[in-house]
Amino acid sequence: MPVSDKQNFERFGTNVKQFDVTGKTLLIPDMAPNASRLLAACFRSVGVNARVMETYKGLSLGKEFTSGKECFPCQVTLGDILYHLQSEKARLGPNFSPEKYVYFLPEADGPCRFGMYNKMQRLVLDRFEEYRDVPITYLSTRDAYSSADIMPAEASSVFQKLSYVAIIISDILDRTTCRVRPYEWRPGLTDSFMQKALDAVIAEVEENGTKLELKRFYNLIEDITSTAKTFIDTRQPRRPAIGIIGEIYVRTHPESNQNIVRVLEKFGGEAVVASVAEWINYVTYDKARDHERRLKLAWQNREFGSFGTILNELISTNIEKYYQLLRQYQGYSRALKHLDIHRDHRIGTIEKRLDCDRLYSFDIGTESALSIGAALEQVHEGFNGVVNVFPFTCMPSAVCTAVLKPLLNKLRMPYIDAPYDGAIQPNREIALRTFMYQAKQHLESRNSGKRNGKAAKCHIKP
Ligand code: SF4
Repeated sequence: MPVSDKQNFERFGTNVKQFDVTGKTLLIPDMAPNASRLLAACFRSVGVNARVMETYKGLSLGKEFTSGKECFPCQVTLGDILYHLQSEKARLGPNFSPEKYVYFLPEADGPCRFGMYNKMQRLVLDRFEEYRDVPITYLSTRDAYSSADIMPAEASSVFQKLSYVAIIISDILDRTTCRVRPYEWRPGLTDSFMQKALDAVIAEVEENGTKLELKRFYNLIEDITSTAKTFIDTRQPRRPAIGIIGEIYVRTHPESNQNIVRVLEKFGGEAVVASVAEWINYVTYDKARDHERRLKLAWQNREFGSFGTILNELISTNIEKYYQLLRQYQGYSRALKHLDIHRDHRIGTIEKRLDCDRLYSFDIGTESALSIGAALEQVHEGFNGVVNVFPFTCMPSAVCTAVLKPLLNKLRMPYIDAPYDGAIQPNREIALRTFMYQAKQHLESRNSGKRNGKAAKCHIKP
């Protein structure tokens, strides 16, 4: 029976919702490989049977059921869920029961299209009679990814803390790989070790995660980084440091970005990819900014009734912010005892850098704020090149390009845009190879003393 538009929209409320997912099979789309797998392990530790779906095999399905105007990550994740459900149906035959599954697709509350992915994908799943009963659940930036509405309160409190630490560890694993692999004395050594390292962290999360004995995780970080360090052939000279910024999905999903980190390594670079925690920290930071703004308004308008409530919200968000800072500091400090990976920047530093240059403001928001600020921070930190990785037609990334291209050109910092939409672009490798040549020259001129090691604090006079 054809479904009316009204019924379709009603299903956004009934079948895209937050509900207790304990005991269900939670299907998580793959993004950053380490982060996705550790997040799934955190869910499993609190009784949710989460699994990361195979990725990119269903891209043609994702493209078939979209118009071409959607963002590329929306097409990839849609393809992943359709491919997964199709495979499950083929595997289980008449025993396939859609209500056992829950599709997990987080969202943002604007201004980007990311807030609409799960609604749009609901419309597509509803076109298949057999997938109409697969609900979609989400965490949202609206409440800083609180899990309180998708699991019991006790589990949620543990999950929230554990998953944040897991994300920090996944970032450290990524940075360890990027720091060691370009210099390894035997090809393949780092990849095979880091896979074992990931498995060890997953096992620890599943077995002991809910005890929140963070020392165990920190000890693991030390074990991993101290071993990984021994893979470095110290006779090799240090390569140009390349900062990878841009849209979080495509920059961290190797299939979508056509393995850009490995391509840069092949052409002689050492990549540092903006972390996953950067976005989570930004969401909390931005929430605190919003509370501060509302608090000021309530004071100015003499709305003393709401003043106390907002003040409490601000205090609890700030506690969360400092919790995140502390955990991040602890995790990186343990890694840095053995291996000189790049520490993650603070969101406050990024904001100051933007204010300093006055080219963009946190008031506008979106990932542009992070990417522009992170690129400026990388210039300051002495990187030798910046790559902006993003989905073709991505709105914040286009803004980012418009600001960064002239700015980094002025600062004589090699910069390249790397947009992706699933098509193989024949000249992409040539462009990256040329970019790497410029980055090498940048490093050489710095080493020869013709260029300052670190950029000036403010690049453009206000
Ligand atoms: S950040 Fe880019 S890719 Fe993501 S929803 Fe917004 S426009 Fe789309």
